[in-house]
Amino acid sequence: MKSLKGKISARRNYLSVMYIPHNKGGVKTIRINHYRTTLLTTFAFMLVALLVLTGYTLSVVKQNREMKIQHTNELNAILSEKEQLEALIAKQAKELAENAEIITTMNSVKTISEEAIDSYREQYENMVVAYIDKDLKEIGTVSRGDKKPASFKEDVAELRSLISLVESAKLSEDDVTSKIAQKEAQLNNYLDALPTYWPVNSRTTFSGFGRRFHPIYKRYIMHDGLDMAGEKGDPVYAAGAGKVSFAGWNGGYGNCIIIDHGNGFKTYYAHLSKILVKEGQRVSKAEKIGLVGSTGLSTSAHLHFEVRLNDKPTDPLSYIEP
Ligand SMILES: [Zn+2]
Repeated sequence: MKSLKGKISARRNYLSVMYIPHNKGGVKTIRINHYRTTLLTTFAFMLVALLVLTGYTLSVVKQNREMKIQHTNELNAILSEKEQLEALIAKQAKELAENAEIITTMNSVKTISEEAIDSYREQYENMVVAYIDKDLKEIGTVSRGDKKPASFKEDVAELRSLISLVESAKLSEDDVTSKIAQKEAQLNNYLDALPTYWPVNSRTTFSGFGRRFHPIYKRYIMHDGLDMAGEKGDPVYAAGAGKVSFAGWNGGYGNCIIIDHGNGFKTYYAHLSKILVKEGQRVSKAEKIGLVGSTGLSTSAHLHFEVRLNDKPTDPLSYIEP
């Protein structure tokens, strides 16, 4: 490459420009006069200005390129962050869908349980209404929809299995105030009040419900209850939860306790040697209420036990469980 070398000669107002080629050849000198000097000086300044400008432009271009790379990197970082966020959102959406599914399942289990309870409660209420309203003959053959007629005890067994179903259907502890818990409590109270508990320790009975030859009257008369074996002083238990509606002397019954269990049920405990409860007192199922005796029209110590529905004597063996 060739180079250019300029030299301003102060002498004689000339500008001498020497041309020195790198290869072998003669040195050429161009002699420029004063006018040309001014022109060339101007041109040189312009050239310098152009170079500076070009340099500046190039630096700006370089800077832009760097910024562009930096922006691209930032954009890539943002895009990757966006991808991660989208993945997270997708994961959460999936979890939400799964939770929704679990909730739906739980709700359907709940609904099934509630429907079952409603259905059983309705059947049970129907049964109780039938017990109260219809003749004794029909007791134990209450129709239960499309099912075969069932006995009272079968119904009680069914009620108990329903309660255990309800217990197993309990979904979580924060659910205790739910309808299920309330209905479970209702059903338990209902079952608890039913006179199903055998009222003495002995399971021996010697005079059943119905017509019989009366040992004192010496003729056939209706026996309204069931006589149960027991020694004087043996404990007598409440057959179901309820309220003591009578406690005292009651003619031929001697010392007698009557418990009102609600839903039309009452139980009688007669010939007691001692009464351990007071009228108006609430008693729980199996609670000790008195002692076996032979007071009133009685020849020996035993418990005369009656179950009355709407004040009509019924066979205690239909209810109590040995
Ligand atoms: Zn009796």
